[in-house]
Formats: sequence, structure tokens, C-alpha cells
Amino acid sequence: MSRTALRICPLCEATCGLTLTVEDDRVTGARGDRDDVFSRGFICPKGASFGAADSDPDRLRTPMVRRGGELREATWDEAFDAVAAGLRPVVERYGPHAVGVVLGNPNVHTVAGALYPTVLLAGLRTRSLFTASTLDQMPKHVSSGLLYGDANAVPVPDLDRTDHLLLIGANPLESNGSLCTAPDFPGKLKALRARGGTLTVIDPRRTRTARLADRHVAARPGTDALLLAAMTHVLFEEDLVDLGHLAPYVQGVDDVAAAVRDFTPEAAAGACDVGADTIRTLARELAAAPTAAVYGRIGSCTVPHGTLASWLVDVLNVLTGNLDRPGGALFPLSATDRTPRPAGPGRGFALGRWNSRVSRHPEAKGELPISALAEEIDTATDDGSPIRAVIAVAANPVLSAPDGDRLDKALGSLDFMVVVDPYLNETSRHAHVLLPPPPPSRAPHFDFAFNTLAVRNQVRYTRAAVPLEPDRMAETEILARLVLAATGMHGADPEAVDAMVVDQTLGKAVTEAHSPVHGRDPRELAGLLTGDNGPERRLDMMLRLGPYGDGFGARTDGLSLERLLAHPHGIDLGPLRSRLPQPLKTASGKVELLPRPIADDLPRLKRALGERADGLVLVGRRHLRSNNSWLHNVPALTGGSNRCTLHIHPSDAERLGLVDGARVRVKGAGGAVVAPVEFTEGIRPGVVSLPHGWGHDRPGTRMSHASLDPGVNVNQLLDGSLLDPLSGNAVLNGVPVELAPLDTPS
Ligand code: SF4
Repeated sequence: MSRTALRICPLCEATCGLTLTVEDDRVTGARGDRDDVFSRGFICPKGASFGAADSDPDRLRTPMVRRGGELREATWDEAFDAVAAGLRPVVERYGPHAVGVVLGNPNVHTVAGALYPTVLLAGLRTRSLFTASTLDQMPKHVSSGLLYGDANAVPVPDLDRTDHLLLIGANPLESNGSLCTAPDFPGKLKALRARGGTLTVIDPRRTRTARLADRHVAARPGTDALLLAAMTHVLFEEDLVDLGHLAPYVQGVDDVAAAVRDFTPEAAAGACDVGADTIRTLARELAAAPTAAVYGRIGSCTVPHGTLASWLVDVLNVLTGNLDRPGGALFPLSATDRTPRPAGPGRGFALGRWNSRVSRHPEAKGELPISALAEEIDTATDDGSPIRAVIAVAANPVLSAPDGDRLDKALGSLDFMVVVDPYLNETSRHAHVLLPPPPPSRAPHFDFAFNTLAVRNQVRYTRAAVPLEPDRMAETEILARLVLAATGMHGADPEAVDAMVVDQTLGKAVTEAHSPVHGRDPRELAGLLTGDNGPERRLDMMLRLGPYGDGFGARTDGLSLERLLAHPHGIDLGPLRSRLPQPLKTASGKVELLPRPIADDLPRLKRALGERADGLVLVGRRHLRSNNSWLHNVPALTGGSNRCTLHIHPSDAERLGLVDGARVRVKGAGGAVVAPVEFTEGIRPGVVSLPHGWGHDRPGTRMSHASLDPGVNVNQLLDGSLLDPLSGNAVLNGVPVELAPLDTPS
């Protein structure tokens, strides 16, 4: 019997609405939902393969517990007994920081990943938190924290209305958006050009996005901040600064002018390999456009000056008056944000409230660099215990973090490790307990994180498209039980976790003067919540307390879960609007344009004006049919151009005596890998590229298709020592490598 069901796609940040075909509780097809208020029918090859990813036979169905050195199938009760027995002794003997929590980026694509890790961390009180953010986006959070006082206040480019878009280190034609949720990003770029707007792309590779642009600037990898600083210099030098409506909300403009005085286009040109004239043109075009937005992503974040580059992206938007105005870069307002408090000074953002134990890296946003995870496990110091136990949720740092070999060994030495993951992969193979969540078709979906980054305000919720089988456990319940087992409450009802969060949230809301429920009885409010289970009641609470919510009856036409369920294709909440000064939480209540940590880091950038390493440097690359290491086990999404090859410009290949298709040894500071060479004119000379997320060749994994063509782990070329010092983000781009031919093709 065939039927259809709606499901928001969890396979990338674009959050497209899908219409699934379901036959006998199996998803057999997926197409774009034309009535989805946000994605309007858009779908990409990953979304079209939802069914294949969902029914992958290598997905684990049953919990596994290590007995006699082997992972063996167990019941859910046995598994959680083992979690409690494994974690609590570590906490009690070595203290909470001896438990490391590792969160992978799929967490932001699930309801469970949004609702429970914060409760887990609060209950455990560990400072040993490591996430995928320090592999790609922490620089943006740190720069937002310093500029606006809120690390999660990330302005997004107004793609549908801008006249001029400057992308740096971003390739949305392959990866859709990132920190910018936009279904059909490619279509939005084409629409920009069709309405007479201009697209500029700065990227060392001539990517598909670059080929679409009016102007492509192939700067040297790692020089993004220098290029942006020189553009900022031009704005001041040529009197092009115009804050417009932002003037009352910004402080520190003169300080920025002084700070970029030495970053002339002529000084930056040599380091960036971009002519001074081009740099001036980029700045002039930005200033002259009726509206414009600068958007920087992974390529500009995963470099030695990632936070400075992220800061300069926003500085350029501010100085041209494009922050917080239609057509520029705006702050979304999500339906589950708390009702905005009145504008005014806030507590600001602090970095380095604690440090990592071994290399003394400062925390950022409560996290330590994931590059330091291995040393925090395998290195003893006088300053507290090494990490002895790890809780990993949807994380595969053996592939995604630098020096996977060292981390692989370190994870194997732990006293205890519990992993929530559907696969027996390079990281989860070390688990003492492995807890598999059900496939995505059997889970509800709400985008708590991505709605805060969306290019249009909207809200959508899809319940599970397929019922959970009797032997499976919902991921929300898995994580609630994990919270209980890790915090000494093993055996309690998992709904108690949700009830506790509801009590605390409503208890606080009724004390806040600006809240729509100020002065009411929290127990009465809790009794009004609807939903089939604890997570749904929490969602109802967040919607009703939110900026569009019904305020538990205070606003008759406001949002609630009930109202959202009556709109299965979602509710459009309108285009992004100007919001300043309300989002600002800095101590001054203004945009602090030159924060102290940024000013202190600028001398390091100035030194980079005169630095230019000889030899080749490595950059990563994305593919439309891939997302990190997630989808390599889906046959429909592998092969063709989605291969783990080393891209190199023919001129470099010829100089090094390489043959197209032959194997080459790539050596970096952390090790060496062997990959086939692929010649391409689409990369600038002096730069080579390997994709990320490959290397599925370790024993003890169960990813049968991925292991047929395992590729190599690019992160093995890194030793983990290269970081952006402000954010702790790993340096993954612009890394020096050496090549040596191994053989010739047969
Ligand atoms: S663009 Fe992203 S969200 Fe949309 S269908 Fe593709 S993978 Fe899914």
C-alpha cells in the first residue's frame, strides 16, 4: 500500500520540504514539496536519495555493549545499565571534566540533538565539550559574540533582495548554504543576476559557483583576512564609508580606520596574489551598490586568521550601511527564539573563561578545540585528570578532526565511551556502548538551529513519516535516558527530563517583565501545553513563548504547536526585517566594531603581509552529492565526480612529473596519504585540493559500500597544532603539503 508523507530534509542546512513516497513503512521515493512555504519544491540529489539513505542496511537496529572486548547486541535496558555503570565511576573518581562530550554536526539536524545536549552538559557540569563547530564555524560565532555580544547572532545575506553579493570561501552550488539556510541557493544566485545584480566570488578554485559569477578572484588560500582588511582600508581611504541607518548603533569606527591603516591594497596584493587595482574595485563596487552583502564561509573560517576574516565580513557590511537592512545582511527572527527582551546593554561575550588542560587553549562559546581532543585524552599533566570517558553523539572525529590516527588510538585507551550513532564507523567502533537512533523517516523534524539562520522567517514541523518499530527507541528518548544515566538518575522516567526543562523555562518566563506570561502561574501554563510527548510539549512551549507565539492566550492569532500542525507545509513569517538595536547584547548596547581581542590579534595579521610560504598548499572541496562523511555509504550518492582525488593544476603537475590518474603521495605536518591525481584547470597554480570526510578503511567498521572505495582522510595531513587562536578553529585550508609521484597509470 503506497502513501505520501511530508518530511523536512535533514541532509544539509537548506532544510527543503520533501514529499516522501512510503510503501509498507519503507520510503521508496522523495520529491520536493511544491507547497512548502520555504523551499517551494526544490530538491537536490541528496534529498532525492532520502529513501536510500533512510533504508541503508548497514544502519544499526539494536544497541551494542562491549563484552569480552567485542561489541555485542544487547537490550536497551542492558545498554543503559552499562552506560550508568561506565560513566558514574569516572565522574565520581576523576571529576566531571574527565568526561568529554563530543557533538557532531548532525545534532543540529535533529530534534533530539537540539533539545537534550544542553541538558546533558548542565547536568554533567563538564568543561570538556568538543563539537564540529571548531572544525568550520567557530570563527563566525566568536566574531558575532565580540561584535554583537551574542555568539549566535549571525547576520545572513538577504539573497532574495540584494543587488550585490560578495562570497568569500563559499561554494553554495555544491554545498547549498552554511550558516545561511536557503533552499535553492543556486536558483537565488541566478535570480540575483537575472534582476541585474552582481555576484563576486573569491575562491582559489574556479568552483561551479565561481563560474556563475560576474567576477571571480582566485586569491591565495589563507589570505582572506588580508584581502578583506585591504578592502576596508580602501573604504576609509576613498571616503566610501557610509553607515546610514546604523550610525546610532555602532561604536569604534575611527578605531577600525586606524587599525587597517597599514593594510593598503599594495601591501596586501603580494600576499593575496590579487592586484591592488582589483582590491580597490572590489571595495568600490561594494560601496556603490544600492544594497550589498558580504558572506564568508568555510574557506574563510578554516584558516589561521579565521576570526579576523569573519569579523571583517561584518565590518564591511557595517561600513557600507548594509548590516540590518533589506538587501544587506540581516538577523533572522526564529519562531522558537525567546520573546525579544527590550533593547539595551547586555552582559557581552567573554572568551577564555577556562582553558584546555594540555595546550591551554582558551574556551570559546563553552567549547574547547576539537583539535585538542586527542591530547586531552592521551596526555597527563599536573592540572587535573585527562579525559577518561567520552560521550559522543553523531560525531566521527576520527575522520573529521586533525590527526585521526592519534585520536583513534586515544579513543581506544578510554575507560569508557558511549556513542549515539546509527553506524559502526571509524569513531563508534571504540564504543563500550553504542546506541543507534532510528532512521530519519521515523523521527519528527523541526529546525531549531537553522531557522535562526534562514534567509526568510518561516516555521515548519513534520512528525515522523513512518511509525517507530517496537524494538526501536526514539532518539529523543535515547538522549533523555542518556542524560539520566550520566547524571546519577538512571532508571527515572525519561519524560522527567522534559518536565524539568518545562518547569525551569516557564518558572523563569513568568518572572520576566517583557514576557507575555509575566506574573502567571507556571503550573497553569504547563497544564496548557499540547503535544503527544515531552519533546512536542517543549516545542509547543517554545513556540508559544516565542516572538510569534500566542503567549498562552495573550495573542489570539499567535503560534502554537496545534496551529503549526494545522499547516503541514509550514507558515511563512515574512521576509527578514531590520532589528537593531534589539539583538545587541554587548556591554555598551552597541555594535562594538573593534573589540579588544580582535585588536590584539591584528598585529599577527600584519605580520602575514610579509609572509609567503614557498611550495604547494592544500584546500578542501565539497560535492553536491556528499555531506562530510555522512553519505558515503549510499551507492546512489557515490561515484562519478564525487571521488577522493587530488585536484592539481596541470602546470604544477607537469613541473612535478605527475601523470593524470596516477597515484601521488601527499605529505603534511601530521602524516601522509596516497591519492589519485586529477588534473584540472579549475584550481589556481600552487594549490591542490582533497575532499573531506573520506578514509573509510579502518578495521572494525560496518559501512560496506563506503569501504569499497574508502578514499583517504585529508585530516591525517594535519597534526592538530594549527589553530585560529581566538576561536580554536582547526586550520584546514592553506596548509603546506609536499607531493611525490608513486606510480603511473596502467
Ligand atoms: S538541498 Fe539540502 S535540504 Fe534540500 S534536498 Fe538537498 S540535501 Fe536536502
